Amino acid sequence: PLLRQTRFLTSAQRLEQCPPDEGFEVAFAGRSNAGKSSAINRLTGQKSLARASKTPGRTQLLNFFEVAEGRRLVDLPGYGYAKVDRTTRLQWQKELDGYLAARQCLCGLILLMDIRHPLKDFDRMLLEWSAESRMPLHLLLTKADKLSFGAAKNTVLKVADSLRNHPAPLTAQAFSATTGAGADAAWDVLAQWLEL
Ligand code: GDP
Repeated sequence: PLLRQTRFLTSAQRLEQCPPDEGFEVAFAGRSNAGKSSAINRLTGQKSLARASKTPGRTQLLNFFEVAEGRRLVDLPGYGYAKVDRTTRLQWQKELDGYLAARQCLCGLILLMDIRHPLKDFDRMLLEWSAESRMPLHLLLTKADKLSFGAAKNTVLKVADSLRNHPAPLTAQAFSATTGAGADAAWDVLAQWLEL
């Protein structure tokens, strides 16, 4: 509910094109197909907000959404797009690394993973970065509706337990963009990080 006012702000292909580094920002990251667009749309209550990020030519961009004055969500470029060549991929990696390293207003990272395929290489890379930078991390285990309630809960516990020595604040939850399960918990995290 608190994110209903969210609107698309701008896209940045390079670091210099990002909005001024002020206020509060929460970044969404995930492998391609993890359910990131669906999650952003569900959490903001807007059916096609994050669709722009998926149109060819925009996928390589950092897409910024404004939740409220000085409060932003950032859709980070995903990985695993089959159609992308190696050079482009390395370029994304560079921009992503640059963003993560430079952004002062970043207050937390939401890492989305398909609950049936958690902790792949891309996820490990971001976990590593969170550990080094002490950036708070919230794991959204998406498409939880694909598992039984018990199996989903089990996976969340297992993933959280395997990361219990993570040196930065780390939380995990199951989420479904399809049913809305877990949306309240995700809102709580966003509200806290963005000081809404
Ligand atoms: P992105 O590439 O990370 O932005 O992933 P999308 O949001 O486009 O989702 C990838 C695919 O997974 C699409 O076919 C979605 O319909 C599907 N999907 C996303 N979220 C859910 C979910 O919560 N439940 C189910 N069953 N499917 C989902």
